Amino acid sequence: MMIKNKVKQLFEEQLKDWELARNNYEALNRVKVKTLDVDGHPYKVQFNPARITSSAAKVDPKSIRERKCFLCSENRPPEQKGVLFKERYTILVNPYPIFPRHLTIPALEHTPQLIASHFGDMLDLAQQLDDYVLFYNGPKSGASAPDHFHFQAGNKGFLPIENDRNRGNAICIESENRQEMLDRFQQSYDSFPLQPDDSEPLLNILTWYEKGKWITFLFLRKKHRPDCYFAEGEANLLITPASVELGGVVITPLEKDFEKITAADIAGILAEVC
Ligand SMILES: [Zn+2]
Repeated sequence: MMIKNKVKQLFEEQLKDWELARNNYEALNRVKVKTLDVDGHPYKVQFNPARITSSAAKVDPKSIRERKCFLCSENRPPEQKGVLFKERYTILVNPYPIFPRHLTIPALEHTPQLIASHFGDMLDLAQQLDDYVLFYNGPKSGASAPDHFHFQAGNKGFLPIENDRNRGNAICIESENRQEMLDRFQQSYDSFPLQPDDSEPLLNILTWYEKGKWITFLFLRKKHRPDCYFAEGEANLLITPASVELGGVVITPLEKDFEKITAADIAGILAEVC
């Protein structure tokens, strides 16, 4: 069976057999959404309380060392099943969804979140799962498991960037040729600045496959969390921008933030982190 069909089947089975996933996907139908025009680009704001764990995740080295890795197979919930990809990854249903169909795709091995040697796999996943947008959050760019390599994927037709590709804050590469995608990715990657303590440039990546072509957006980051994340009182917005936000969907785990966030706030956050 094709990977795509196996994943479809996985979704049906998990929503039938796994109560946590079923409840959270059902809750997604009731989340509040509003659309804002940010400098001519449509941005959706989604109030999603189930995402608090991810948005507020502690990702400093000490906290990471002291917690059990939730992407290692021995620590995953027994109900969570997977589809093997290339003998190196497991495709899992994400039980805390943003998308109506949301996947987490960890490497089988507990290896750090570094894209360089994995970008080819990202292209292959995007081609096989051509009804999904694949995304990668760097270890200091929104990944809540910086110690265990993983991609995520969300169904197409959800992120505004798919139909709104003129993004000043991103590099877009597209080609029908896999090797050309790899070469152009490498060129961009090599040209990005690397901070002294970091193993890779601060990056978010979105990739999908459409009409025989790969489309990849590379977002180079200046910082992980915007100042408003740490601000006191009224100025505080609990937002950790990552690939989904850069693709045009801003997640607010707190209702007060959903109510008060404006287009100007989003423009400010994007300018600050990209
Ligand atoms: Zn792990």
